[in-house]
Amino acid sequence: MNNEQLQQWVEELSLSFFGLPFKHQATFNSRLRSTGGRYFLKSHHIEINPHQLTNFGLEEVEKIIKHELCHYHLHLAGKGYQHRDAEFKSLLERVQGSRYCKALPLAKRKQSLPFRYKLRCKSCGMTYLRKRRVDITRYRCGKCRGELVEESTFEK
Ligand SMILES: [Zn+2]
Ligand SMILES: [Zn+2]
Repeated sequence: MNNEQLQQWVEELSLSFFGLPFKHQATFNSRLRSTGGRYFLKSHHIEINPHQLTNFGLEEVEKIIKHELCHYHLHLAGKGYQHRDAEFKSLLERVQGSRYCKALPLAKRKQSLPFRYKLRCKSCGMTYLRKRRVDITRYRCGKCRGELVEESTFEK
């Protein structure tokens, strides 16, 4: 499959699943490693990892395209286009898009345990990154003994 065919495919999926045209550019980018696709906020372009096609087939790539199109259409409509937004989650569910961009086996092996939780001290603002969930009622800030709050959870 070449870029032209990808472009056509994305346009088709956009019309049939979102009822809206895809008016920007979709291309393969073979330098993408751990992500299946990307959406660019500035140019509105979509990039798809061609290794996904080789590794997981058309069905998986279709889901990735739908995922990127969710970002695309919500962003252009001025709605919540980020992973944590309710609008993004419900649209993704409706079009049966990929929940996240599946990491390739090779890229997966390279990543060591990721930090998934971020804690912040209520008093001094010190932040701590943790790989596993921590019971914040049982721990205090190592610097000032202040109370900790879980600030964010990273997806992956
Ligand atoms: Zn995404
Ligand atoms: Zn502190």
